[in-house]
Amino acid sequence: MEGHTIFNGLKVIDFHAHFPTANWLDWRVSWRQRLVERYGEKNTQMLMEQSARNGEEMRKLWGFKPPEPEIRSDEEQASKWATDLIEKGVSRVNFVTGGGNENLATIIKQYPEKFTGFAHHNIFSNDAAIKLEYAVKKLMLKGYKIIASSQREPIDEKSIYPVWEMAEKLEIPILIHFGILGGGGGMALDLRNMNPLTLWEVAKMFPRIPFVIPHFGAGYLRELLQLCWSCPNIYVDTSGSNRWMRWMPFEINLKLLFRKAIETIGPNRLIFGSDSSYFPRGFSLSYLREQLRICRSIGLEEESIEKIFQKNAAKLLKIDV
Ligand SMILES: [Zn+2]
Repeated sequence: MEGHTIFNGLKVIDFHAHFPTANWLDWRVSWRQRLVERYGEKNTQMLMEQSARNGEEMRKLWGFKPPEPEIRSDEEQASKWATDLIEKGVSRVNFVTGGGNENLATIIKQYPEKFTGFAHHNIFSNDAAIKLEYAVKKLMLKGYKIIASSQREPIDEKSIYPVWEMAEKLEIPILIHFGILGGGGGMALDLRNMNPLTLWEVAKMFPRIPFVIPHFGAGYLRELLQLCWSCPNIYVDTSGSNRWMRWMPFEINLKLLFRKAIETIGPNRLIFGSDSSYFPRGFSLSYLREQLRICRSIGLEEESIEKIFQKNAAKLLKIDV
């Protein structure tokens, strides 16, 4: 258990990962279908190739092997994930997607001491609020995950207020992805949903909901900071390679990003995540190592480190550590 020495006794919780389900391929097909409807077959093909090149580039940068072609049952995959966490010395992982709410709930039941998960269903469907209530009360999921960038309607639409009301009633956190989408060619289906500030009115109307914006805003750093500045219920997750930094019109790297985030948002609203999913990579130890190294190198005290890598997540997930 290599992790324990590296983490200096930290019980690391990964707040943001995706369970690589057996039905993941179906998901890819339906996402592709949505793109085809919008951009046509030929253009979609080009977008997908571009996305594949992006993925390859990222893996090369971090030395990750490509996702294995082998398809395992969810049961086997869950056991592989649990073993991977133990081997790498990581306490717990929160899967924000996993082949639908029922499916993910079954996976979590297999290793409740290692896994938690979020509901993930279309927020614009008529029964979204009821589905969320069911997912939290009956399936014991701990929050709700939305990809704003892939919604066709702006996420501050009044028609989805019942969903926010339900989340507030259930006292759950909501993870909302804004900005560029790493996979799928990086496009959004409604440009307003790229910008975290689109959440401003909702965050003000529902100040008791903790909203977590992943990947430091994925390219919308200034907007994210403005949102955090005015809304104390906005949290930020650090997950993924954060390769959007390369496309900023100013010099930025992970160390500067952490420094700026600590100085503005502070350690109480920053949450470690890895955005891990597939094997053979499994839990992405490289991201954890890099982020921990940075936090220690900028002189962050151990108490704050504990919050970012463990306690803030535990609090939002309502679990003991
Ligand atoms: Zn993710």
